[in-house]
Amino acid sequence: MFDTIRKIISNGKRFLITSHIDPDGDALGSVFSLYWVLKSLGKDPRVYLKDHVPYRYVFLPGPSEVLHTLSEETFDAVFVLDCGDLFRIGDGFEKVKNMGTVISIDHHETNEAFGEINIVERSASSTAEVLYGLYKSMEIDFTYNIAVNVYTAVFTDTGSLRYENAAPAAFIICEKMVEEGVKPAYVAQMVYESHPKERFLLLGEVFGTLQTFDGDRIAMAHVTEEMFRETGTTSEYTDGFSEEFRKIRGVEVSVFIRQTGAKRYKISMRSKGTIDVAQICSRFGGGGHKNAAGCTINGELIEVEEQLKKTFNLDDSLQLAAG
Ligand code: 5GP
Ligand code: MN
Repeated sequence: MFDTIRKIISNGKRFLITSHIDPDGDALGSVFSLYWVLKSLGKDPRVYLKDHVPYRYVFLPGPSEVLHTLSEETFDAVFVLDCGDLFRIGDGFEKVKNMGTVISIDHHETNEAFGEINIVERSASSTAEVLYGLYKSMEIDFTYNIAVNVYTAVFTDTGSLRYENAAPAAFIICEKMVEEGVKPAYVAQMVYESHPKERFLLLGEVFGTLQTFDGDRIAMAHVTEEMFRETGTTSEYTDGFSEEFRKIRGVEVSVFIRQTGAKRYKISMRSKGTIDVAQICSRFGGGGHKNAAGCTINGELIEVEEQLKKTFNLDDSLQLAAG
């Protein structure tokens, strides 16, 4: 399965590695682990990410420089990791098609096979799990820099090995990475217990917007640009907020709405399993997985909420509590 990629790697020298906007643990761990693998083979990899590395992931070893703008350079191949569609790379995404052979490595249900080469394993817990298969087939040496990135990617994309995608493969990879020297307590502390206190001021504001519908089956909450301003926070502080509302007893789907522009909202959905949120988000041009998906909707907040309620067949009479 990895023959073509192995050949491209061994014949090439210069590679670009990229992933999606608002990078999460799997995006970063995948990109950085591949960076170190290519380095260990004497290659010249570059990393491009539209957005900066969120505070909770700055402990991950990566290149000394992450590019945030794309030049006119060309590469032997461009690795697009953990992206269901090319658009997910962010502004300027079209450019990468002219920069080299696009290789998509991913695990999203909704992957559009946009690459010239596509390795999409929908049953894999994470993109890093797919990459782990590639690394093993290349018989690479799992140095600490590679191991901690692979571990963090698999661990975070499985919700700390708690979600449905936490199959044996995820546990086995984590075990192997721990054997290579990764310290689970350290990673957990960095990722989950290193928040600036402002995050909790914001979370308090967001809790105040919580509404539930349909006998508590759907939870909806939002964050506005004004709330970011008031608490001195930015969008990266909201990582994990949508999981928060899925914790409510009876809630099947949590919908978290985050303002990203004057009339623009990013939606994050989390499901406990009975409702396929990737399918719902794809109606709005987004995508993801059955239990975690996202999309962007334009309009005033109230209109966006109305559209969402309509897709879930909700009307206001079903609302039990209003924030
Ligand atoms: P999150 O809610 O954490 O941003 O994303 C949840 C999942 O849905 C992730 O796997 C993410 O890659 C995917 N996702 C989020 N937003 C979008 C989107 O706008 N388009 C697509 N295709 N996938 C998305
Ligand atoms: Mn992922």
